Formats: sequence, structure tokens, C-alpha cells
Amino acid sequence: MNKISVVVPCFNEEEVLSMFYKKTSEVLNEIEDITYELLFVDDGSKDHTKDILRALSLKDDRCEFVSFSRNFGKEAAMFAGLKKSSGDYVVIMDADLQHPPVLLKEMYKAVSEEGYDCCAGKRVDRTGEGKIRNFLSHTFYKVMQKMCKMDMSDGCGDFRMMSRQMVDAILELKEYNRYMKGLFSFVGFDTKWIEFHNVQRAAGNSKWNFSKLFAYAMEGMFSFSTAPIVWIGNIGTAIMIASILMTLFGLLVHVTSMFHLVCLILFLSGLQMLFVAILGQYMTKDYMESKQRPIYIVKETSKNLS
Ligand code: UDP
Ligand code: MG
Repeated sequence: MNKISVVVPCFNEEEVLSMFYKKTSEVLNEIEDITYELLFVDDGSKDHTKDILRALSLKDDRCEFVSFSRNFGKEAAMFAGLKKSSGDYVVIMDADLQHPPVLLKEMYKAVSEEGYDCCAGKRVDRTGEGKIRNFLSHTFYKVMQKMCKMDMSDGCGDFRMMSRQMVDAILELKEYNRYMKGLFSFVGFDTKWIEFHNVQRAAGNSKWNFSKLFAYAMEGMFSFSTAPIVWIGNIGTAIMIASILMTLFGLLVHVTSMFHLVCLILFLSGLQMLFVAILGQYMTKDYMESKQRPIYIVKETSKNLS
């Protein structure tokens, strides 16, 4: 009999957890010939998330939890869940019911019968999300797709069911900077995409704010692409050629314009600062990797989880 592990990262999700447990268990109970575990990862919540998880794990021994010592971020929470999972198939889904549990049936069919290694949900719209966030996310994924030459299109989130082989491959990647969407794409394997419409959060608010999303986007960009360094080189070369041509032009025609000079100096110094910052990003990534710090620190686990 196959076992499905469902990994659920939770950060301040007290309002939705009971509903999530009810809906997801209902669907899992309907899938024939399987056993399952619900593996909640409390990512340093400040509300009553942990109390609810404790109660759930006492009530139902298929529910287990790991609780972090502080908020390490969703990527770290997903990693911890994958590491603790023991199922033949592992699902990652959000706690807020934005990932419809009913799709688990179709996902299980794809991985257990149709021969796929992974079945992932692709959100086809973003109704209910802010227009600015919508636009920025869309642009980000377009740029990433081009830069990384990896399949990371908009809407392809973390909601997926994977084979044990794929999960083990992801766990083999020991890097500190874990941008999951990039890691999924990096390990490869046959993925079936199933489309679903965006649903509003069942309760509570999104745990992302602009600065968190910006940091997440930068993480993705600098961990999975070295294209910005190539751009720097190209732009630098172009500026050098342009300045040589301008010097030659200045020798032929007499030009004096203080204003233009000041503009040029300001522009170039800004450009240099930007380039230094981009290079710095790669160096900090390397710096973080070299420290070999743990990706997360566990404070408490449910009794039935070693
Ligand atoms: N989450 C987490 N740690 C964080 C932020 C979010 O574990 O630092 C979890 C959150 O509890 C939820 C999932 O990641 O289960 C997705 O978060 P959210 O619904 O806030 O994101 P959105 O749907 O707005 O992209
Ligand atoms: Mg959500």
C-alpha cells in the first residue's frame, strides 16, 4: 500500500488549520489503498498555530508537526517537511486552502498510474490578488524564464505531488539558498501540469509583504542565474566603446557643456554602484554557503515524529 506524505508549511495560520485538516483528510480518505501522513511545519508562528498542531497530533496520529525556533521562511519549511517525510509520494501544499485538496486525487493518479514522477498544479489566473502584485509577479517569472532557461512560468507554484525518487534528488542538493521553484526545475523528472483557478485564502491574510516578495525574487534570480554578471560585462564594454567614440567626436567638434558632463558622471557612478551591488549579491550567496549554517532550527516536534 502506498503512503502519501503531505507537507504543509504554516506561518501564523491559526484561522485556517482546522478547516485545512478537515478538507484535506476528507479527500485523502477517499483515495483507495493508501495510507497518509499530514506533516505540518510551523515556521516560527507567533499565534496559536503550534497549539492547534499539538492538539491535532494528539487527536489523529496521522498528523505530525515540526516547529521552528523562529521564522525561517517558506522555503526552509518546505525543506524540513520533505526531509521528515517518509511517504512513497510527497505533496507540498499551502495551509490556506488556496491549493485545492480535491486535486490530490488527480495528482495521485498521475504519479501512481500514469508513470509521471511529479504532478504539479498550475494556477491559470490570479483573481483576487492585488493588481500591482499581479503585474510584478508576472513580469518576474517572465524575466526568470528567459534568464535561467528553466521552466519557471507564472502560476507554477510549489503545489505538487512528487515521487520519493524526486524528493530524494531534491534533498541531495545541499545548498543554503533554497529557491524551491528553481530546485524543482533543476532536478528535472517528468512533470504533469494540471491547471486550477485561483481561490481566495480560506481565512487570514497573505504572509507575504512587498519586501518579503522582493527578497524572494532576488533569491531566485541570484541563486539560479548568472545572467546579470554577463549583462554587466556587456554594458561595461558598450560604455567603453561609446566613450572612445565620444572622445574621437570631441576631438573633431568643439563641445563644452558642464550640464551634460555632470549628468554623465552621475549616470556612470550610479551604474557602477548598481553593478557593484549585483556582484555583491553573488558574493553574499557564496558567503552564506561557506558558513554552512543550518537551513532551519527545530524547537519542538510532535511525539510520534523522530
Ligand atoms: N509560509 C511559511 N513561512 C513564511 C511565509 C509563508 O511557512 O514565512 C506559508 C504560509 O503559512 C502558507 C504558505 O506558506 O501555508 C503560502 O503563504 P501565503 O498564503 O501567505 O502566500 P500567498 O498565497 O499569498 O502567495
Ligand atoms: Mg496563500
